[in-house]
Amino acid sequence: MATQTSTQVVVVGAGFAGLTTARELRKRGVDVVVLEARDRVGGRTWTIRKDGWWLDCGGQWTGPGQDRIRALGEEMGVASFPTWPEGEHLQYTDGMGLRRWQGAAPDQDMETMSKTVQAILAFDQMSQEVPIDAPWNAPHAREWDAMTVQNWIDTNIESERARAQMTTAIEAVFAVEPHDVSLLFALFYARSGGSMFYLISTEGGAQANRFDGGMQLVAERVAAELGDSVRLSSPVRRISQDARGVTVEADGVTVTAERCVVTAPPALAGRIDYQPAMPPLRDHLTTRAPMGSVIKVHAIYETPWWRDEGLSGRVVGDKGPIKVVFDNSPPSGKPGMLMGFIEGGDGRRLSNIDAGERKRLALECFVRYFGEKAAKPMDYVEGNWPAEQWSRGCYGAILPAGTLISAGTALRDPVGRIHWAGTETSEIFCGYIDGAVRSGERVAAEVAAVLGQPAKV
Ligand SMILES: Cc1cc2nc3c(=O)[nH]c(=O)nc-3n(C[C@H](O)[C@H](O)[C@H](O)COP(=O)(O)OP(=O)(O)OC[C@H]3O[C@@H](n4cnc5c(N)ncnc54)[C@H](O)[C@@H]3O)c2cc1C
Repeated sequence: MATQTSTQVVVVGAGFAGLTTARELRKRGVDVVVLEARDRVGGRTWTIRKDGWWLDCGGQWTGPGQDRIRALGEEMGVASFPTWPEGEHLQYTDGMGLRRWQGAAPDQDMETMSKTVQAILAFDQMSQEVPIDAPWNAPHAREWDAMTVQNWIDTNIESERARAQMTTAIEAVFAVEPHDVSLLFALFYARSGGSMFYLISTEGGAQANRFDGGMQLVAERVAAELGDSVRLSSPVRRISQDARGVTVEADGVTVTAERCVVTAPPALAGRIDYQPAMPPLRDHLTTRAPMGSVIKVHAIYETPWWRDEGLSGRVVGDKGPIKVVFDNSPPSGKPGMLMGFIEGGDGRRLSNIDAGERKRLALECFVRYFGEKAAKPMDYVEGNWPAEQWSRGCYGAILPAGTLISAGTALRDPVGRIHWAGTETSEIFCGYIDGAVRSGERVAAEVAAVLGQPAKV
């Protein structure tokens, strides 16, 4: 028998968006219940703790300008530290092998480097035309939403090596292949995060800092403040609304409320049964917003021995399945951790294979970059996000060609008593944890303003 309870606002999802929504509503004196499908809070952030160490299996970094997550971390008493900065980085080019580099951008030859930089600058310049609150109103919105990023790369970057580098950058930021994503959406996303340069940068960019103890620790502390209004292991199956209110049916509990906030990404929100059915535009959006694909792997060693060899632990390459690597050791440097991303097409393909084979392929990449010493880590941990039932991929939703123009407004427009949050709805740092926090702040204000008022259902 399901427990019945009532509240003023019911929030679906206890990631950063849902927890912030609940916290901000609470501050306004509003009664909330948060229903979370998983047996933990944090959503796409997930800190694994084991044998005295911790690591972030999901979202982890913050960067300058990501003021809302940084403020929340500070309020929760979780300190920040910089991504390991010292040593030379590695670049791997298929057919040419490894090269050490330092500075702003890698490449084996100046011509490719300058062509890649020019391409990113051109991309960033175009993104300036895209209004973050309504990308569908950009002067070239129709033209750009009819194209994929691959079309743009093919017609605008002449050098094959520069095309490969731009492809790695797109995979690293979106966790999809350039042919998967609308040019308009990619430009919006870059503008939303400041610029493509910022998004691919470490020092001064989106990969600048981490929280000591892990990103999920911040979420756990917010959840602790919210106490038993957060209900875990309660996947929401159905949301019904009428003139009197909204009824949210989850496994084991049914909650009635005045308003509901759904913070799951569109692809997950679309799997809930709505009564009455969602309007066509919203349904169109949720069936056309797949998640990117990323598997985040950690190889754990007694010490970060690559530092003694003058290496930073950072790699960028053009040969998969791991093309991007970071030193992800905790501030103490004990243990040492190499972390790599398997993204886009490789992420989709390898999420389905045997875990032992995936580990073998991942370690083969670490050995390619760091030598035989990398072959035998003392532990190995992976986050296979496409296989996660309540995320179905990461880092966020990717809009293919034609979606923003036709259904972009449905991302945030409330449907009767149901409001939408989640990083995908954020104008600023869309796709990032900071965007999730901002979306929670925005929707809390939106809902608080209409509480007590009738809704058109
Ligand atoms: C490997 C990886 C690396 C990343 N790296 C970074 C990074 O370094 N920096 C950064 O800023 N961002 C990063 N991200 C992205 C970042 O984690 C997300 O943008 C952010 O956590 C999204 O928060 P959210 O609250 O909007 O969504 P979510 O965290 O997805 O929260 C939604 C919640 O809803 C729950 N849910 C879904 N369906 C239902 C249902 N039917 N009923 C009840 N609950 C439901 C889910 O379980 C989830 O807890 C990364 C993500 C991944 C996976």
